[in-house]
Amino acid sequence: MARAPGWVGARRLLKQLRDTLQQGGPAGRRLDQVTTLIANDMVAEVCSLYVMRAGEVLELFATKGLKPEAVHQTRLRTGEGLVGLIAAQARPLVLDDAQSHPNFAYRPETGEEIFQSWMGVPILREGRVLGVLVVQNKTRRLYTEEEVETLETVSMVLAEMLASGTVLDPEEQRLAEGTSLLPARLAGIALQEGLAIGTAVPHHRGLVITRIVAENPGEERSRLGAAMRELAETLEELFEQSELQQAGEHRDVLETYRMFAEDRGWMGRIEEAIASGLTAEAAVQKVQNDTQARMAQVSDPYLRERLYDLDDLANRLLYILVGGEGAAQALPEDAILVARSLGPAELLDYDRTRLKGVVLAEGSPTAHVAIVARALDIPMVGRCPEALTRIRPGDNVIVDGNSGQVLVRPRENVRASFREAIEQRERRRRLFAATRDLPAVSRDGVRVTLGINAGLLIDMPQLHEAGADFVGLYRTEVPFMVRESFPSVAEQREIYARILEVAAGKPVTFRTLDIGGDKALPYWAGAAEENPAMGWRAIRIGLDRPALLRQQLRALVQAAAGGRLIVMFPMVTEVAEFQRAKALLLREAAAAERPPSNLVCGVMLEVPALLFQLDQLFAAVDFVSIGSNDLLQFLFATDRGNPALARRYEATSPTGLGLFSDLAARAAAAGVPLSLCGETAASPLEAMMLVGCGLRSLSMPPAAVAPVKTMIRSLDVGHLARFLDSCRTLETPSLRHLLTAYARDHGVEF
Ligand code: PEP
Ligand code: MG
Repeated sequence: MARAPGWVGARRLLKQLRDTLQQGGPAGRRLDQVTTLIANDMVAEVCSLYVMRAGEVLELFATKGLKPEAVHQTRLRTGEGLVGLIAAQARPLVLDDAQSHPNFAYRPETGEEIFQSWMGVPILREGRVLGVLVVQNKTRRLYTEEEVETLETVSMVLAEMLASGTVLDPEEQRLAEGTSLLPARLAGIALQEGLAIGTAVPHHRGLVITRIVAENPGEERSRLGAAMRELAETLEELFEQSELQQAGEHRDVLETYRMFAEDRGWMGRIEEAIASGLTAEAAVQKVQNDTQARMAQVSDPYLRERLYDLDDLANRLLYILVGGEGAAQALPEDAILVARSLGPAELLDYDRTRLKGVVLAEGSPTAHVAIVARALDIPMVGRCPEALTRIRPGDNVIVDGNSGQVLVRPRENVRASFREAIEQRERRRRLFAATRDLPAVSRDGVRVTLGINAGLLIDMPQLHEAGADFVGLYRTEVPFMVRESFPSVAEQREIYARILEVAAGKPVTFRTLDIGGDKALPYWAGAAEENPAMGWRAIRIGLDRPALLRQQLRALVQAAAGGRLIVMFPMVTEVAEFQRAKALLLREAAAAERPPSNLVCGVMLEVPALLFQLDQLFAAVDFVSIGSNDLLQFLFATDRGNPALARRYEATSPTGLGLFSDLAARAAAAGVPLSLCGETAASPLEAMMLVGCGLRSLSMPPAAVAPVKTMIRSLDVGHLARFLDSCRTLETPSLRHLLTAYARDHGVEF
């Protein structure tokens, strides 16, 4: 579905704004003119500008439509009210009934109670929120995507004005919160394990975009073309020179960059922005702002990580277009980098010998910046928003990438114990490296096959590099998610054939499309659902739209080219669904010129209802793979993406233990191969329990393979199984502490 440009309105307004801002005069008056202009142009009854002041306070600086006496009086902290929410999340918010939003904070001095419709966008610069721009209307309406785009475009002009220091002294705009110099502990999530102690250094992009409105689109287009060529060259050089080459992962990262750099959708949106009056750099930034807003909305970690890459790419393009000091600032010898987000190439710009750790306000565990951090062995903590306000340049900081926390200005005794832990970790690293090419066989001779979970071609080399036996889960939806339209059968066949080629004979388990729910495709408009995870997704769509599923199955059959084909269906709730899906597969195989010599067809066990159909299920399938991410979310009724519930119900509970043990026993009795491909297999402690429960095949993100293998090689499975038997009836929500103690007492390595 092509997106409407929205630039037509923006272009006219942009020119008017530029003229107003160029007129000079007191800043306050110009801001009043600006809000009036925007309100008139957008047919809004209110337009208000909030500016971020010291201490994370958003102050109303100008308004058309709210009571004038509220100016410089109305203040909201970051996170407070709708304005504060936008600042906290750095993304737009559109509401047709603002007052019913839980975050709505009524400020009587503004007189805003009569306005129902509400649209606000952050005023962003270098990833920081400088303010918030809001329009409101009395009647209930939902502003369109085009209107949001227009307001975002306008906010770019305001960002430059705010950054110029004419509205507010730059020192006053955003001082670090917390004058306290006491030690602080900031919570985040672990992005790359490891520990580091060092000196905080803020990450500066150093980009200044001064020209936003352009006169000659043709000239801007050729500037963009030249910049794209330069970008491709510099990336190639950067990755070639980097230490990543030795780590063997640089190709993966580079592949993604190439894919995005050549992505017609991305380039198309930039060119569209240029055509409507923006300079090349402003157009790149506009599209980058869109990417950032999308990043915040996407809950699928895989897609989100790709969006981070795109963000990084946009930054590099901006460097080329406008110049800038770049990331390569002078670093202290023990630098801890602090940034909102960071792309893999940006990380590479830093001097590796001096960079000891990284703290990000955003970030995701599977982001490419985390892959780079892993390859360079740099401890990294992400999703730590407080880092931007609580850490000051020069602070002593401990990055604890094991538990996902950051200690700011720690006391000497804390520092000493972390130094000791850093030395211990070195010893463990040497152990991992030694086991990478060895089979996962336990001390008592139990062989466990280890697989990787993959989604793009760039993941595949890790099958060999991580020393894995097979691809336990290939998420076919991922190539669909990074495209602008449905790939044709021929395109799909090509993707799958390449995957099989890179696998070089190791089995690849293709999971059919798991779209729908929160894994939206830009070109697939499913209806809005209240509970998307339990909605119209995966095989449910496949069976309701059999043409879609059949095309995918045809592409898979063709890709197998007469060889082995392993297919697995997601979110199966009833055995009958599997039978129908399998019938489609058999039909495609029968119609193929070269049918697969060995067709293996299984299900993902993700819906608890299947647990009550095990006899029929085992009789019908060639294998079962437990999708523990979804199975546990539905079993415990806990949203898998909600951090507040993350440790509330555990795989390592007597319930989990009973579930996995029973499943393993039933599958073994039925002679059906059983594996598990959810995140539960990725942690050595949980993987230990799974093996103790009888599972003999686990698939996980590639990085987990070496630690899990190390664990298995140090384990006596028979002994553990007896210990677990004694835990099944314990009345405790979690066996984590018992398992940890068991591992420690029995010399299990992780
Ligand atoms: C799962 O649900 O455990 C799984 C592996 O599938 P996904 O994470 O793609 O939903
Ligand atoms: Mg799933």
